[in-house]
Amino acid sequence: MEAQATVASRKGKEFLLSECYVSVQGESSLVGIPTIFVRLYTCNLRCRWCDSMHAVEGGDFTRMGVDATVKKILDLAGDLQSDARGIRNLCWTGGEPLLQGESIARAIERLPETLVHSIETDGEIDVSTFDALVPDQRASGRVRYVMDVKCPGSGMVANKAYANLERLREHDEVKFVLLDRADYEFAKGVLSKVDTRARAVLFSPATPAHQVSRGLDPGLLASWILDERLPVRLQLQVHKVIWPGRERGI
Ligand code: SF4
Repeated sequence: MEAQATVASRKGKEFLLSECYVSVQGESSLVGIPTIFVRLYTCNLRCRWCDSMHAVEGGDFTRMGVDATVKKILDLAGDLQSDARGIRNLCWTGGEPLLQGESIARAIERLPETLVHSIETDGEIDVSTFDALVPDQRASGRVRYVMDVKCPGSGMVANKAYANLERLREHDEVKFVLLDRADYEFAKGVLSKVDTRARAVLFSPATPAHQVSRGLDPGLLASWILDERLPVRLQLQVHKVIWPGRERGI
C-alpha cells in the first residue's frame, strides 16, 4: 500500500487500479447487461454514503500499465470475434475515473471499436477535458458518461456539475443519489434550471454505506415520482440485490 499523499498515476501510461472484473451492470440504462468493470483508485470527493470507499482511500490499489490493463480487459471480454459471445460493455468507475482520463483515453484507443465505454463520473471534474481526448468516440456514442450531480445529502456541493450538464449529449445519463425529500427537491430544481441533452435521468435512493446508516425507502421515492408524474427513471442497484452484503467484485 502507498501513503495517500504520494498517490498519483503517470498520466497516459498507467492506472491506479482498485479492481477489474466482470459482473452484471447494476445501474443505468444498461442494467442487467454483462459488463467489464475497471474500478480506479482515488477520488476528488468524499460522499457520506459512498459504497466504494476502498477505491477512495486506504492505499489498496496496484499500479498497472495501460497495455497490461488493455490485455486484462481483453482476457475478461472473451471471444469478441463471435457475435454470439463476448462482453462488449466496459464501465470505468471508481473512485473518480476522470482523474486518470489520459490513461483511459490511451486504453480506449487500443481496444476494439466494438466496445462501448461507460464512464461513471461524479460531476465535479470538467468533462470537456476528456471529451477533447476522445472526440470521435464521444461523437459516435462509443464513449458515454453516467454523471452524478451531488445532492446536499451527500455532504458534497454540486459546482462544476452545472456546466457539465450542458456539455452532455443524448447518449449520456444523469444520476441523482437521493437521501431524503430535500435531495429530491434539489434534483428537481437542478433539472428545471439547467438544459441538458442527456436523455436518461436516474433517481437512485441512497442505501446505507460509509457514514449513512439509513438510506431512502425506494417505495417512498416511487410515490413522490408518481404523485408528481416526474419523467425520470427510478434506479435500484441490481448488483446489490443479486449479491447482498458484498462490497467488491460486483
Ligand atoms: S464521488 Fe463516488 S467514489 Fe467518490 S466519494 Fe463520492 S460516491 Fe465515493
